[in-house]
Amino acid sequence: MPFDSTTLYEGLVANGLIIPSGVQGVFGRNAVFEEVLERFNGLISRLALNDGAEKMTFPPILPRQVFEQSGYMKSFPQLAMGVTSFCGCAADHGELVRRIEESEPYDDLMAPAGVMLMPAACYPVYPSLAGTLPHGGRLFDMTHWVFRHEPSSEPTRMQSFRVREFVRAGSPETVIQWRDTWLARGLELLLSLELPARSEVASDPFFGRGGRMLASNQREQKLKFEVVIPVISIENPTAVCSFNYHQDHFSQTFGILQADGQLAQTACLGFGLERVCMALFRHHGFRPELWPQSVRSLLWT
Ligand code: ZN
Repeated sequence: MPFDSTTLYEGLVANGLIIPSGVQGVFGRNAVFEEVLERFNGLISRLALNDGAEKMTFPPILPRQVFEQSGYMKSFPQLAMGVTSFCGCAADHGELVRRIEESEPYDDLMAPAGVMLMPAACYPVYPSLAGTLPHGGRLFDMTHWVFRHEPSSEPTRMQSFRVREFVRAGSPETVIQWRDTWLARGLELLLSLELPARSEVASDPFFGRGGRMLASNQREQKLKFEVVIPVISIENPTAVCSFNYHQDHFSQTFGILQADGQLAQTACLGFGLERVCMALFRHHGFRPELWPQSVRSLLWT
């Protein structure tokens, strides 16, 4: 199989693993896809078993105020996805139904719902940390659906997908050491599944000309790492895991202090679960029952 987007997409569809919706980057997953995803997520749980992380789950919508405070619109306005709702009267409703029937625009009859779709799995955690952390800081574990407005025919670029994410808050040493431990763990996990993974310094897709400066600062300071695997291209491997060191960005914003009263630091790491599945399908084939025994025995134990 060549490394290209169309071959992978068509293979996933032909084998029933993904179910197209008619909108780019939005598709269903079948039971086989979901089982691989759950099994891989289970392997992460096993690695994290003795870390003492606090599990949390938030709905896939984020209060608009938290969204604004987090600075997402400064950095990635092009990826943000909002939620609107009809809030009009009976006459407006008649007009709404008429316009839909006549295929006319009706966005002026919709109003912001006060929430945004969750852009990153860790965002709901930071406001909950406002105040003073216990000695040693805190560690969180969550699996969330996240949303990016980047419609694409490329299967690894989805408008919504799941991320298994951990967040560490504490002293700079604690946070960096934790990040480095997971960088090694993540790489080892993916290599053990016989995927040609490697880690590299990375940057976020900051918006606009000012964004290029932010991205180059981020690279220079090594604030972001990714574990990448060739999935649709050898030259441009796909990021399946990302490690972000925020320094005191969220602590300043939400007032998060260490036990000694100093400003805390935070870092997060996330596994893109669908992307890991696609990497497995690309490298080992579309039928998990035919995967190498060594890979199967890791996932199905
Ligand atoms: Zn995060």
